[in-house]
Amino acid sequence: MIALHVGGTLIRGCVLGSDGSPRATERWFTRPERGPDAVVESVLASAASLAERCRPLAAGVALPGVVDEASGRAVRATALGWHGIPVRDWVAEHLDLPVAVGHDGRTGGLAEARAGAGGDCRNFLYVSMGDDFAAAPVVAGRAVPGEDARAGEFGHVVVRPEGGDPCHCGRHGCLETVASTTAVTRRYARMTGWRGVTAREVYHRADAGDPHARVICTDAVDALVGALATEVRRHASERVVIAGEPAEAGTSGLASLRATLARRLASPTVPDLRLARFGDMAACVGAAFLARDMVTEGHKTTAG
Ligand SMILES: [Zn+2]
Repeated sequence: MIALHVGGTLIRGCVLGSDGSPRATERWFTRPERGPDAVVESVLASAASLAERCRPLAAGVALPGVVDEASGRAVRATALGWHGIPVRDWVAEHLDLPVAVGHDGRTGGLAEARAGAGGDCRNFLYVSMGDDFAAAPVVAGRAVPGEDARAGEFGHVVVRPEGGDPCHCGRHGCLETVASTTAVTRRYARMTGWRGVTAREVYHRADAGDPHARVICTDAVDALVGALATEVRRHASERVVIAGEPAEAGTSGLASLRATLARRLASPTVPDLRLARFGDMAACVGAAFLARDMVTEGHKTTAG
């Protein structure tokens, strides 16, 4: 199996080994500023380059935004400039292979439920963070039906309704405009004139006492925890599995994020926070699982 996860900054790819673990992981820049057609071309080229390495039986693709998994279409992925793109059909035609398409929150949750940090937990919330955000509740190993469309909107919860920065989705003050790695870098540059300081470095500077970095990081963590608390309450999640850049948690990591979440929830039961086993490749690995399921189901149908 091969799989791709198309994100706003990176396209991640992997070949899934027969033991179910990812091999030959790859990353390419998405560069969505080139326009939606160029991003489609990059996805097709990336898929073809992975397919050349092995003889895959099928391919999986994880997408952000609002995804129609049944038809394999990207309904709305503003980070990529995509509206109504028939991803499954185009990739299938390009590779001459069957293709499964899933929402990146759902596929990430699937990977962690089957083989990662959610394996022993009945009800957890999968959250990916970094340059973009996704969240998906996973119950008994499955992403909760009907939640897929909304999962893509986690990064676009409006957390700063007054005077928030504009977002690529068309709104202002979304979680991504405050807490994404790009937002932290951009806000720090605007406040200090220092350009290109990575989000991780801004968090380090906050810990070292830089007052500008402190303002930005406190704001980012506050926004993230507020959005997380809403999801945890809504789904009564027992655990939160975090994939991707954990810089938002600060250099002191998950313990500090959990303490902030506990204060926000003001409840005696606070979910356990864990890092995703597959890290920022979780959505990609989950897409490979979807592809493998499709082939297995197809064999069963043929046999039956
Ligand atoms: Zn937005």
